Amino acid sequence: MTNSNNDSVDAKQPPKKTVVSNFIRQLISRDNASAKYGGRVHTRFPPEPNGYLHIGHAKSICLNFSIAAENNGFCNLRFDDTNPEKESQEYVDAIKENINWLGFSWQGDVRYSSSYFDALYAFIIQLIGKDKAYVCSLSPEQAREYRGSLTDSGRNSPSRDATIAENLILLERMRAGEFENGAYSVRAKIDMASPNINMRDPVLYRIRHIEHHQTANKWCIYPTYDYTHCISDAIEGITHSLCTMEFEDHRPLYNWILENLEISSLRAESGLPDSEYVLPGQTEFAKLKLNYTMMGKRNLKNMVDTHAVSGWDDPRMPTLAGMRRRGVTPAALRNFCESVGVSRSESVVDLGMLEYCIREDLDKNAWRAMCVLRPLKVVISNFSADYLIKLLMSNHPKDESQGKREVPLTHEVYIDRADFEEMPPPGFKRLTLGGEVRLRGAYVIRCDEVIKNDQGEIIELVCTADLDTLGKKPEGRKVKGVVHWVSASLGKSVTVRLYDRLFNVENPESKDVEDYRDVLNPNSLEIIDNCVVEPSVLTRDAKLNFQFEREGYFYLDSKDSKDPKDPAPTDLYFNRTISLRDSWSS
Ligand code: ATP
Ligand code: MG
Repeated sequence: MTNSNNDSVDAKQPPKKTVVSNFIRQLISRDNASAKYGGRVHTRFPPEPNGYLHIGHAKSICLNFSIAAENNGFCNLRFDDTNPEKESQEYVDAIKENINWLGFSWQGDVRYSSSYFDALYAFIIQLIGKDKAYVCSLSPEQAREYRGSLTDSGRNSPSRDATIAENLILLERMRAGEFENGAYSVRAKIDMASPNINMRDPVLYRIRHIEHHQTANKWCIYPTYDYTHCISDAIEGITHSLCTMEFEDHRPLYNWILENLEISSLRAESGLPDSEYVLPGQTEFAKLKLNYTMMGKRNLKNMVDTHAVSGWDDPRMPTLAGMRRRGVTPAALRNFCESVGVSRSESVVDLGMLEYCIREDLDKNAWRAMCVLRPLKVVISNFSADYLIKLLMSNHPKDESQGKREVPLTHEVYIDRADFEEMPPPGFKRLTLGGEVRLRGAYVIRCDEVIKNDQGEIIELVCTADLDTLGKKPEGRKVKGVVHWVSASLGKSVTVRLYDRLFNVENPESKDVEDYRDVLNPNSLEIIDNCVVEPSVLTRDAKLNFQFEREGYFYLDSKDSKDPKDPAPTDLYFNRTISLRDSWSS
C-alpha cells in the first residue's frame, strides 16, 4: 500500500543508484577486461555467527552484493562458523533476516564453512602428504614462545621433522578424539623465520571437544579461519574475496594454502568446468567507523549481556536489527553505505552523514500524521459536545500521489503544552491568552480562558474557533502560528520513545576509555507515556514510517506493541527514528 513500507523492499531488486567508482570497481573492470576470471564476478559475504550484524557489516554487504549485481555476477552468503564456542543458531537466523531486510538475496542456498569440513579434512591430508603441513605437539603456550616476535625470528617445532606417515597417524588419532584440547595442532610447514608472523607455521587445525551448531558432535577438531576461508572461497568458485584491512597480512597465507593444494582437487570441489576455474584473490578495504558508535562485537555482546541495552535489537544499538526497530529504512542504509565510499585508508565517518541519509529517505517517503507528545486539553466552546467533522489531509505535502487521510475534529482537542504560554517570551508565535493560532489543517482558534487546578497548573484552555477560517486566511489580521493537534475523544493513547546517541564521547572505543560504561549517555532514552496520536495512524500498515508533524520521524515498535488494529489497542509504542532537521512552524 505504500512505497515507504519499511519491510516491503523487493529483496531481489535494490534500487539503482548512481554508481561511484572506487578501487575495487576499477580492479574488477580490469579483471573483466583481461578476462582473468573469464568475465565471472562471484563474491561472498562471510559473517561469523557470533553476534548480530551492525552498520559496519552493512558496508561489506552492500559492497559485495552490489559489485556482484553490477557485473551480472553472484554473491554467496557463507557463515564462517569455525569457532563453535561463540556461535549460535540465533545469530545465523538473525543475520539471514537482516540481509534480506537490507534488500539483498544471496545466490543459491546459504553456505556454511562447516559444510566443507569433510573437504577441508581431505585437503589437510593432501597438505601433510606433500610435506606442507605437520602435526605439532607444542602446547599453545609453547607454540607462542616458539613463534618469536616482530624482531626475533621463531624456532622450529620439534615435531617439524616427523615423517609424513607419522603425521597422518597422529591426524587420524586427533580426529578420532584420542587427545585433549590443545594436546596437538596441525600446522602449515612454511617458514619460522618469515618477517610475516602469519607465515611462521600457522595453525590450520586445533582440537576442540565441543558441539557445533551445524555439525553437532561429528567433529572434535576444527579448522582455523585462515585455513578455512581461502579453501571455502575456492570451493565456491569465488573470484573476488573482499575483506577488511586487518586481513592484509594474512593474504600471503591465503595464497600459500591455495597454491600448495592441487588445483584440480579444488576445482573438482567447486563443480566448475576447467576452463572457468581460476583461484580466488583477496582484496582488502578499510572498515567503516562511525563516531559516537561502538562496533566491536565483543563489546556489543557485553552490553546486551549486562543489560546496558534491552537487547541486540535495542533501537539505540548500531545493529541492523536495532536500526530496523527504530525505523531506519533499508534504502537509507544502502544510500549511506554507497556514499561513504570504499578505500584502503581508514577514516571516521560523522554520524551526521548517516542521519542525513535517514532524513533524506524519510522526508520523501514517510507519511505525515499528528501526535501530541505532552497533551493539553483545548475545549472549543462554539462547537457542540457531539461536533464532528472529518478533515481530509495529505499523506505527503509534496506528493499528492501518496493520497489523503481523514482527520476528525471534535469539541475537545489536545495541543502540546509547549504550544501555549501564559506569559509568552518575545517572539512567541503560538497560543497565548487572548491570542490566536491555527490548528494545522483546520480552523484558527482564540484562547478565551485558562483553567487551572488547585496547584495552579494549567489543565485546560477554553477557545473559540473562527468558523470562517477553514482553508482560508482570517479576515483583517495575520495569524502566524500553526500548531499540531489531535481530537481528544478520537485520538489514541500511545507511548513514545525518544532516543539520543548512546555514547557521549566521539570514540567510545578509544584507548583513553577504560570501560565503555563510563561513557554511556545516561539520557539516551526518554519515555513519554500518554501521548495522543490521530486515529488514522492505527488503521495503517504497522510497518509504515511516519513523520509526526513537528516532532520527527516515528515507527511503531511492533515487538513491544499490541496489534494497532486491535479494537482496543492499548500498549502502543512509537520509536522516534530521528528528529526533524527543521520544524515547519515554531
Ligand atoms: P569479529 O571478527 O571481531 O567477530 P567482525 O566484525 O570482523 O568481528 P565478521 O562476522 O567476521 O565480524 O564480519 C563479516 C564481514 O564483515 C567480514 O568480511 C568483515 O571484514 C566485514 N566487516 C566487519 N566489520 C566491518 C566494518 N566496520 N566495516 C566494513 N566491513 C566490516
Ligand atoms: Mg571477523
